[in-house]
Amino acid sequence: MRRWLRPDVHVSDIAAIDVHALADCGVRGLIVDLDNTLVSAHTADAPEHVFTWMRTIRDMGMHMCIVSNNDHARVARFAAPLHVPFVAHARKPSKTAFDRARAQLCMDAHAIAVIGDQLLTDVLGAKRCGMYAVLVDPIAKNEEAWWTRNVNRRLERCAKACLRLTP
Ligand SMILES: [Mg+2]
Repeated sequence: MRRWLRPDVHVSDIAAIDVHALADCGVRGLIVDLDNTLVSAHTADAPEHVFTWMRTIRDMGMHMCIVSNNDHARVARFAAPLHVPFVAHARKPSKTAFDRARAQLCMDAHAIAVIGDQLLTDVLGAKRCGMYAVLVDPIAKNEEAWWTRNVNRRLERCAKACLRLTP
């Protein structure tokens, strides 16, 4: 199980991701989680630093798709001004949404990095699909839904201790 939950990279936030290093590893596409990865769960619209980060990704010739377990209205509103495709109601770590995102990106799994804040959804989903996994620290844990806060994060704390990842 450890290999399914261990991220390839663990950084504090999206700004700390070395996208040039990802490109050197052959990554050409990004599947990015929304809540607590790009913005907090209660932030409806993308702030300027997210637009700036997106421009950096695009300038490198990379493509991106947002994949979120949140509902269509929430994800569509966020993604539209950024002009990025998205998959809502993803039910991560289900492979289905990652396969749909991969089809949107038109590339093989080994050319895709998944960026997200949860081991049990983002990292596990990435590993199940043979994708590179980048774990970021959640932006605001106190805004998370009940299930995430009381179930996923508790299991995640145990997994992080086993993997010797920083909590
Ligand atoms: Mg998240």
